Amino acid sequence: ELPPPGTNGLARIKVVVRKRPLNKKELARKEEDIVAIDGNGCSLTVHEPKLKVDLTAYVEKHDFTFDAVLNDQVSNDEVYRETVEPIIPTIFQRTKATCFAYGQTGSGKTYTMQPLPLRACQDILNLMQHPAYRNQGFQLWLSFFEIYGGKLYDLLNERRKLCMREDGRQQVVIVGLKEFSVSHVEVVKDYIEKGNSSRSTGSTGANEESSRSHAILQLAIKKHSNKKDEKGGKPVGKFSFIDLAGSERGADTTDNDRQTRIEGAEINKSLLALKECIRALDSEQGHIPFRGSKLTEVLRDSFVGDSRTVMISCISPSTGSCEHTLNTLRYADRVK
Ligand code: ADP
Ligand code: MG
Repeated sequence: ELPPPGTNGLARIKVVVRKRPLNKKELARKEEDIVAIDGNGCSLTVHEPKLKVDLTAYVEKHDFTFDAVLNDQVSNDEVYRETVEPIIPTIFQRTKATCFAYGQTGSGKTYTMQPLPLRACQDILNLMQHPAYRNQGFQLWLSFFEIYGGKLYDLLNERRKLCMREDGRQQVVIVGLKEFSVSHVEVVKDYIEKGNSSRSTGSTGANEESSRSHAILQLAIKKHSNKKDEKGGKPVGKFSFIDLAGSERGADTTDNDRQTRIEGAEINKSLLALKECIRALDSEQGHIPFRGSKLTEVLRDSFVGDSRTVMISCISPSTGSCEHTLNTLRYADRVK
Protein backbone atom coordinates (compact mmCIF):
# COMPACT_ATOMS: atom_id res chain seq x y z
CA GLU A 1 0.00 0.00 0.00
CA LEU A 2 1.17 3.49 -0.82
CA PRO A 3 1.21 6.14 1.86
CA PRO A 4 -1.97 8.24 1.63
CA PRO A 5 -1.84 11.27 -0.63
CA GLY A 6 -0.57 14.10 1.46
CA THR A 7 0.95 17.48 1.29
CA ASN A 8 4.09 16.64 3.27
CA GLY A 9 3.35 19.98 4.88
CA LEU A 10 4.21 21.76 1.66
CA ALA A 11 2.38 24.83 0.43
CA ARG A 12 0.65 24.42 -2.92
CA ILE A 13 2.48 27.35 -4.40
CA LYS A 14 6.00 28.46 -3.75
CA VAL A 15 7.55 31.52 -5.31
CA VAL A 16 11.32 31.82 -5.37
CA VAL A 17 13.40 34.61 -6.89
CA ARG A 18 16.86 33.99 -8.29
CA LYS A 19 19.21 36.83 -9.07
CA ARG A 20 22.02 36.19 -11.54
CA PRO A 21 25.44 37.89 -11.31
CA LEU A 22 26.25 40.93 -13.47
CA ASN A 23 27.70 39.61 -16.74
CA LYS A 24 30.82 40.80 -18.58
CA LYS A 25 28.89 43.10 -20.89
CA GLU A 26 27.12 44.78 -18.01
CA LEU A 27 30.36 45.15 -16.09
CA ALA A 28 32.06 46.63 -19.18
CA ARG A 29 29.24 49.17 -19.45
CA LYS A 30 29.78 49.97 -15.77
CA GLU A 31 26.22 49.03 -14.96
CA GLU A 32 25.39 48.78 -11.31
CA ASP A 33 23.82 46.03 -9.28
CA ILE A 34 20.53 47.56 -8.15
CA VAL A 35 19.05 44.48 -6.43
CA ALA A 36 19.82 44.18 -2.70
CA ILE A 37 18.82 40.95 -0.96
CA ASP A 38 17.99 41.10 2.74
CA GLY A 39 19.76 38.86 5.21
CA ASN A 40 16.61 36.84 5.92
CA GLY A 41 16.74 35.38 2.40
CA CYS A 42 13.08 36.20 1.76
CA SER A 43 13.02 39.84 0.76
CA LEU A 44 14.79 42.16 -1.62
CA THR A 45 14.89 45.81 -2.56
CA VAL A 46 15.22 47.18 -6.08
CA HIS A 47 16.90 50.58 -6.24
CA GLU A 48 15.41 52.22 -9.30
CA PRO A 49 17.41 55.17 -10.66
CA LYS A 50 15.07 58.05 -11.55
CA LEU A 51 15.18 61.68 -12.61
CA LYS A 52 13.11 64.55 -11.28
CA VAL A 53 11.62 67.08 -13.71
CA ASP A 54 14.57 69.37 -13.01
CA LEU A 55 16.80 66.40 -13.96
CA THR A 56 18.25 65.76 -10.50
CA ALA A 57 18.81 62.08 -9.95
CA TYR A 58 17.19 60.11 -7.14
CA VAL A 59 16.52 56.50 -6.26
CA GLU A 60 13.10 54.96 -5.79
CA LYS A 61 13.10 51.85 -3.62
CA HIS A 62 10.79 48.89 -4.22
CA ASP A 63 10.53 46.18 -1.56
CA PHE A 64 9.30 42.63 -2.23
CA THR A 65 8.94 39.52 -0.10
CA PHE A 66 8.75 35.94 -1.40
CA ASP A 67 9.14 32.41 -0.05
CA ALA A 68 12.85 32.60 -0.81
CA VAL A 69 15.23 34.95 -2.56
CA LEU A 70 18.43 33.37 -3.87
CA ASN A 71 21.48 35.57 -4.36
CA ASP A 72 23.89 35.50 -7.30
CA GLN A 73 26.30 33.13 -5.57
CA VAL A 74 23.77 30.35 -5.06
CA SER A 75 24.57 27.20 -7.06
CA ASN A 76 22.17 25.22 -9.21
CA ASP A 77 22.41 22.47 -6.65
CA GLU A 78 21.10 24.77 -3.93
CA VAL A 79 18.35 25.93 -6.27
CA TYR A 80 17.35 22.30 -6.69
CA ARG A 81 17.25 21.73 -2.95
CA GLU A 82 15.16 24.84 -2.35
CA THR A 83 12.63 24.27 -5.12
CA VAL A 84 12.28 20.78 -6.57
CA GLU A 85 13.68 18.36 -4.02
CA PRO A 86 11.00 18.80 -1.33
CA ILE A 87 8.25 17.99 -3.84
CA ILE A 88 9.76 14.84 -5.33
CA PRO A 89 8.18 12.39 -2.85
CA THR A 90 4.71 13.82 -3.49
CA ILE A 91 4.66 12.64 -7.10
CA PHE A 92 4.65 9.07 -5.81
CA GLN A 93 1.37 10.04 -4.17
CA ARG A 94 -0.35 11.08 -7.40
CA THR A 95 0.57 14.72 -7.17
CA LYS A 96 1.11 16.80 -10.32
CA ALA A 97 4.10 19.02 -9.69
CA THR A 98 5.24 21.89 -11.86
CA CYS A 99 8.31 24.09 -11.78
CA PHE A 100 8.37 27.22 -13.94
CA ALA A 101 11.20 29.59 -14.74
CA TYR A 102 9.87 33.06 -15.49
CA GLY A 103 11.82 36.16 -16.49
CA GLN A 104 13.16 38.30 -19.30
CA THR A 105 15.49 36.86 -21.94
CA GLY A 106 19.01 36.62 -20.52
CA SER A 107 17.89 36.52 -16.88
CA GLY A 108 18.98 32.88 -16.36
CA LYS A 109 15.87 30.76 -17.02
CA THR A 110 17.59 28.10 -19.11
CA TYR A 111 20.68 28.13 -16.90
CA THR A 112 18.38 27.48 -13.94
CA MET A 113 16.05 24.92 -15.52
CA GLN A 114 18.46 22.78 -17.51
CA PRO A 115 20.03 20.83 -14.60
CA LEU A 116 16.84 20.38 -12.56
CA PRO A 117 15.24 17.39 -14.37
CA LEU A 118 18.51 15.50 -14.21
CA ARG A 119 18.71 15.85 -10.43
CA ALA A 120 15.02 15.04 -10.19
CA CYS A 121 15.50 11.80 -12.15
CA GLN A 122 18.30 10.80 -9.81
CA ASP A 123 16.09 11.26 -6.77
CA ILE A 124 13.06 9.63 -8.39
CA LEU A 125 15.05 6.57 -9.45
CA ASN A 126 16.51 6.33 -5.94
CA LEU A 127 13.07 6.53 -4.35
CA MET A 128 11.88 3.77 -6.67
CA GLN A 129 14.41 1.53 -4.94
CA HIS A 130 12.94 2.37 -1.53
CA PRO A 131 11.27 -0.63 0.16
CA ALA A 132 7.91 1.18 0.07
CA TYR A 133 8.07 1.57 -3.70
CA ARG A 134 10.20 -1.31 -4.94
CA ASN A 135 8.06 -4.05 -6.51
CA GLN A 136 5.23 -1.59 -7.13
CA GLY A 137 5.77 -1.68 -10.89
CA PHE A 138 6.72 1.99 -11.07
CA GLN A 139 8.45 3.23 -14.16
CA LEU A 140 9.78 6.68 -15.04
CA TRP A 141 8.98 8.26 -18.42
CA LEU A 142 10.44 11.39 -19.99
CA SER A 143 9.12 13.65 -22.74
CA PHE A 144 10.18 17.06 -23.95
CA PHE A 145 8.25 19.41 -26.19
CA GLU A 146 7.92 23.04 -27.11
CA ILE A 147 5.06 25.48 -27.57
CA TYR A 148 5.92 27.98 -30.26
CA GLY A 149 3.41 30.39 -31.75
CA GLY A 150 0.63 28.38 -30.11
CA LYS A 151 1.73 25.10 -31.73
CA LEU A 152 3.33 22.02 -30.18
CA TYR A 153 6.57 20.42 -31.37
CA ASP A 154 8.28 17.27 -30.10
CA LEU A 155 11.85 18.20 -29.13
CA LEU A 156 12.89 14.55 -28.99
CA ASN A 157 11.40 13.51 -32.31
CA GLU A 158 12.69 15.84 -35.02
CA ARG A 159 10.38 18.67 -34.02
CA ARG A 160 7.37 16.71 -35.18
CA LYS A 161 4.24 18.82 -34.93
CA LEU A 162 1.87 17.51 -32.27
CA CYS A 163 -1.74 18.06 -31.39
CA MET A 164 -3.54 17.90 -28.14
CA ARG A 165 -6.84 16.44 -27.10
CA GLU A 166 -8.67 15.55 -23.94
CA ASP A 167 -9.64 12.01 -23.17
CA GLY A 168 -12.97 11.41 -21.46
CA ARG A 169 -11.47 11.76 -17.98
CA GLN A 170 -10.13 15.30 -18.22
CA GLN A 171 -6.66 14.02 -18.95
CA VAL A 172 -4.65 15.86 -21.55
CA VAL A 173 -3.29 13.68 -24.30
CA ILE A 174 -0.63 14.99 -26.64
CA VAL A 175 -1.05 12.79 -29.67
CA GLY A 176 2.19 11.32 -30.99
CA LEU A 177 4.45 12.77 -28.29
CA LYS A 178 7.40 10.44 -27.79
CA GLU A 179 7.93 9.22 -24.26
CA PHE A 180 11.16 7.53 -23.24
CA SER A 181 11.46 5.07 -20.43
CA VAL A 182 14.25 6.11 -18.06
CA SER A 183 15.96 3.60 -15.82
CA HIS A 184 19.45 5.13 -15.68
CA VAL A 185 20.23 8.74 -15.06
CA GLU A 186 23.04 8.83 -17.67
CA VAL A 187 20.63 8.93 -20.60
CA VAL A 188 18.69 11.86 -19.16
CA LYS A 189 21.49 14.32 -19.80
CA ASP A 190 21.48 13.33 -23.48
CA TYR A 191 17.71 13.83 -23.74
CA ILE A 192 17.96 17.26 -22.15
CA GLU A 193 20.81 18.35 -24.41
CA LYS A 194 19.17 16.91 -27.49
CA GLY A 195 15.88 18.62 -26.65
CA ASN A 196 17.45 21.96 -25.94
CA SER A 197 19.39 21.89 -29.19
CA SER A 198 16.13 21.19 -31.06
CA ARG A 199 14.45 24.29 -29.71
CA SER A 200 13.36 26.93 -32.21
CA THR A 201 16.39 28.69 -33.57
CA GLY A 202 15.03 30.38 -36.69
CA SER A 203 17.51 32.40 -38.73
CA THR A 204 18.35 35.02 -36.14
CA GLY A 205 20.29 32.96 -33.61
CA ALA A 206 19.43 30.59 -30.82
CA ASN A 207 18.57 32.75 -27.83
CA GLU A 208 16.57 35.17 -29.94
CA GLU A 209 14.11 32.53 -31.15
CA SER A 210 14.06 30.19 -28.17
CA SER A 211 13.02 33.22 -26.13
CA ARG A 212 9.69 33.06 -27.98
CA SER A 213 8.89 29.51 -27.02
CA HIS A 214 7.98 27.58 -23.89
CA ALA A 215 9.95 24.36 -23.40
CA ILE A 216 8.23 21.68 -21.33
CA LEU A 217 10.04 18.63 -20.00
CA GLN A 218 7.81 16.13 -18.25
CA LEU A 219 8.77 13.28 -15.95
CA ALA A 220 5.89 10.89 -15.44
CA ILE A 221 5.69 8.02 -13.02
CA LYS A 222 3.51 5.17 -14.23
CA LYS A 223 2.51 1.96 -12.61
CA HIS A 224 2.86 -1.14 -14.75
CA SER A 225 1.09 -4.30 -13.78
CA ASN A 226 3.69 -6.45 -15.55
CA LYS A 227 6.93 -6.05 -17.45
CA LYS A 228 5.29 -6.57 -20.83
CA ASP A 229 2.74 -3.85 -20.51
CA GLU A 230 5.19 -1.26 -21.84
CA LYS A 231 2.81 1.41 -23.05
CA GLY A 232 -0.21 0.92 -20.90
CA GLY A 233 1.12 1.91 -17.49
CA LYS A 234 -1.33 3.78 -15.27
CA PRO A 235 -0.33 7.40 -14.64
CA VAL A 236 0.65 8.02 -11.02
CA GLY A 237 2.28 11.43 -10.64
CA LYS A 238 4.06 13.86 -12.91
CA PHE A 239 6.68 16.58 -12.68
CA SER A 240 6.74 19.27 -15.38
CA PHE A 241 9.73 21.57 -15.83
CA ILE A 242 8.94 24.64 -17.85
CA ASP A 243 11.38 27.09 -19.35
CA LEU A 244 8.96 29.88 -20.28
CA ALA A 245 9.29 32.32 -23.16
CA GLY A 246 11.07 35.58 -22.31
CA SER A 247 8.56 37.66 -20.38
CA GLU A 248 9.45 40.78 -22.38
CA ARG A 249 8.30 38.99 -25.56
CA GLY A 250 4.70 39.38 -24.49
CA ALA A 251 5.10 43.05 -25.30
CA ASP A 252 6.00 42.36 -28.96
CA THR A 253 2.43 43.08 -29.99
CA THR A 254 3.13 46.27 -31.93
CA ASP A 255 6.24 45.04 -33.75
CA ASN A 256 6.47 45.76 -37.48
CA ASP A 257 6.87 42.09 -38.29
CA ARG A 258 3.54 40.28 -38.46
CA GLN A 259 4.89 36.93 -37.28
CA THR A 260 6.58 38.57 -34.28
CA ARG A 261 3.32 40.30 -33.41
CA ILE A 262 1.36 37.05 -33.52
CA GLU A 263 3.93 35.31 -31.35
CA GLY A 264 4.02 38.23 -28.92
CA ALA A 265 0.26 38.15 -28.53
CA GLU A 266 0.35 34.39 -27.90
CA ILE A 267 3.07 34.75 -25.28
CA ASN A 268 1.25 37.60 -23.59
CA LYS A 269 -1.92 35.52 -23.49
CA SER A 270 -0.17 32.45 -22.10
CA LEU A 271 1.71 34.28 -19.34
CA LEU A 272 -1.48 36.03 -18.24
CA ALA A 273 -3.44 32.77 -18.32
CA LEU A 274 -0.69 31.03 -16.36
CA LYS A 275 -0.85 33.64 -13.61
CA GLU A 276 -4.61 33.28 -13.40
CA CYS A 277 -4.43 29.49 -13.22
CA ILE A 278 -1.80 29.51 -10.46
CA ARG A 279 -3.82 32.05 -8.49
CA ALA A 280 -6.95 29.95 -8.88
CA LEU A 281 -5.07 26.94 -7.48
CA ASP A 282 -4.81 28.67 -4.15
CA SER A 283 -8.33 30.04 -4.00
CA GLU A 284 -10.09 26.65 -3.69
CA GLN A 285 -12.93 27.97 -5.82
CA GLY A 286 -12.71 25.12 -8.27
CA HIS A 287 -12.80 27.02 -11.53
CA ILE A 288 -9.41 27.00 -13.21
CA PRO A 289 -9.31 29.24 -16.32
CA PHE A 290 -6.97 26.96 -18.29
CA ARG A 291 -8.73 27.57 -21.61
CA GLY A 292 -7.00 30.93 -21.83
CA SER A 293 -3.99 29.63 -23.79
CA LYS A 294 -2.27 26.63 -25.31
CA LEU A 295 0.23 26.57 -22.44
CA THR A 296 -2.42 26.35 -19.74
CA GLU A 297 -4.52 23.88 -21.74
CA VAL A 298 -1.54 21.57 -22.05
CA LEU A 299 -0.96 21.90 -18.31
CA ARG A 300 -4.61 21.40 -17.51
CA ASP A 301 -4.20 18.22 -15.47
CA SER A 302 -1.44 19.90 -13.47
CA PHE A 303 -3.93 22.45 -12.23
CA VAL A 304 -6.59 20.07 -10.98
CA GLY A 305 -6.55 17.79 -7.98
CA ASP A 306 -3.54 17.61 -5.74
CA SER A 307 -0.86 19.79 -7.26
CA ARG A 308 2.32 21.58 -6.27
CA THR A 309 3.71 24.55 -8.14
CA VAL A 310 7.07 26.27 -7.78
CA MET A 311 7.83 29.39 -9.71
CA ILE A 312 11.43 30.53 -10.03
CA SER A 313 11.50 34.16 -11.08
CA CYS A 314 14.84 34.92 -12.66
CA ILE A 315 16.12 38.48 -12.55
CA SER A 316 19.06 40.40 -13.93
CA PRO A 317 20.64 42.74 -11.39
CA SER A 318 21.68 45.54 -13.73
CA THR A 319 20.45 49.12 -14.04
CA GLY A 320 19.55 48.53 -17.69
CA SER A 321 17.18 45.69 -16.76
CA CYS A 322 15.40 47.61 -14.02
CA GLU A 323 12.06 47.89 -15.76
CA HIS A 324 11.97 44.19 -16.73
CA THR A 325 13.12 43.18 -13.26
CA LEU A 326 10.29 45.16 -11.66
CA ASN A 327 7.79 43.60 -14.09
CA THR A 328 9.04 40.10 -13.23
CA LEU A 329 8.82 40.76 -9.49
CA ARG A 330 5.31 42.21 -9.81
CA TYR A 331 4.18 39.17 -11.76
CA ALA A 332 5.65 36.88 -9.08
CA ASP A 333 4.00 38.99 -6.40
CA ARG A 334 0.58 38.53 -8.00
CA VAL A 335 1.01 34.79 -8.36
CA LYS A 336 1.58 34.53 -4.64
P1 ADP B 1 17.43 32.96 -20.43
O1 ADP B 1 17.21 31.50 -20.65
O2 ADP B 1 16.56 33.53 -19.37
O3 ADP B 1 17.34 33.77 -21.71
P2 ADP B 1 20.11 32.12 -19.87
O4 ADP B 1 19.83 31.03 -18.94
O5 ADP B 1 20.44 31.74 -21.28
O6 ADP B 1 18.93 33.17 -19.90
O7 ADP B 1 21.28 32.99 -19.23
C1 ADP B 1 21.92 34.05 -19.90
C2 ADP B 1 23.43 33.99 -19.62
O8 ADP B 1 23.70 34.23 -18.24
C3 ADP B 1 24.02 32.63 -19.91
O9 ADP B 1 25.29 32.81 -20.49
C4 ADP B 1 24.14 31.98 -18.55
O10 ADP B 1 25.20 31.05 -18.51
C5 ADP B 1 24.39 33.15 -17.63
N1 ADP B 1 23.80 32.95 -16.28
C6 ADP B 1 22.49 32.94 -16.01
N2 ADP B 1 22.26 32.75 -14.69
C7 ADP B 1 23.47 32.62 -14.11
C8 ADP B 1 23.92 32.40 -12.76
N3 ADP B 1 23.03 32.29 -11.74
N4 ADP B 1 25.25 32.32 -12.53
C9 ADP B 1 26.12 32.44 -13.56
N5 ADP B 1 25.76 32.65 -14.85
C10 ADP B 1 24.46 32.74 -15.14
MG1 MG C 1 16.63 30.52 -22.41
